[in-house]
Amino acid sequence: MDIPPIESGAGMKIAVCAKVVPEQARRIDPETKRLDRSGEQTLNPFDANAVEEALRLKGDDAGAEVVLVSLGPERSLDALRKALAMGADRVVLVADEAAAGSDLVASSYALAQVLEREGADLILFGQQANDSDGAVMWAAVADRLRRPLISQVAELTVSDGTLRGKRQTEFGYDVIEAPLPVAVAVSDAINEPRYPSLKGIMGAKKKPQQTLSLSDLGVDADRAGEAGSRTEVYAIGEPPPRGETQRIDDDGTGAEKIVEFLLERKAL
Ligand SMILES: Cc1cc2nc3c(=O)[nH]c(=O)nc-3n(C[C@H](O)[C@H](O)[C@H](O)COP(=O)(O)OP(=O)(O)OC[C@H]3O[C@@H](n4cnc5c(N)ncnc54)[C@H](O)[C@@H]3O)c2cc1C
Repeated sequence: MDIPPIESGAGMKIAVCAKVVPEQARRIDPETKRLDRSGEQTLNPFDANAVEEALRLKGDDAGAEVVLVSLGPERSLDALRKALAMGADRVVLVADEAAAGSDLVASSYALAQVLEREGADLILFGQQANDSDGAVMWAAVADRLRRPLISQVAELTVSDGTLRGKRQTEFGYDVIEAPLPVAVAVSDAINEPRYPSLKGIMGAKKKPQQTLSLSDLGVDADRAGEAGSRTEVYAIGEPPPRGETQRIDDDGTGAEKIVEFLLERKAL
């Protein structure tokens, strides 16, 4: 089923939940049993799709606003500026030492508080964060806000206060409508995020960038960080070895050796 083209952002306030993630390969710190988040950081690539979609919805509507909402350390602002350079209007970052070690339960609570305060018509999420790959945060936040949620959205339109999303499924597409305010997790197939222009990059630093503490949001210390988390990591380790393996180096006779190997085991 084809979805009609976008009508207009019509003064919509769009919040985009954007996570800042490590740029390099992931490593678990054996001391803290948490992801090592030192080193260079970048905007979660899946969230660039959500930013792009928000900018497309906003279009030329000067009355519409795209606000980035993020939970992470203060230095996340550097990476979030990429989304400002793409065209987002402002950033609200929840940065607080007490939030370190927050699991899904604590993170979704803090994000829901800031989103409640923003009161956006539409909350966009990426499909997943590429550091933890949970693909669950949107469900947890929507549940806390008691908002309808559509996930894996590959096309979306907003018209007359109703959002219509074409959702990718294993067997085809679902088309789902929901009244605003609504939460949507976009699929990475929805668009091709733009590159920030030089003008965008130059202008990004001047855009409003607000940092909030947990107390600014009225989040009690026992609902944040490890105290507010329900997950406990007991141990980390390497995956178990796969049993007996045989390595075949291809010196030109690799195919023959594989056939021989399979014949011996009566697999051919
Ligand atoms: C014991 C424990 C300790 C942890 N400590 C930390 C920690 O100190 N710091 C940390 O970052 N994570 C920490 N995590 C991981 C954290 O729980 C996950 O980041 C969280 O559950 C979200 O899952 P995800 O990152 O897989 O996001 P997904 O569910 O894959 O994210 C989906 C979408 O939600 C949005 N989103 C997700 N996270 C954020 C965010 N922070 N800000 C804005 N939008 C977001 C984005 O749009 C993203 O595309 C910890 C996990 C455990 C189990």
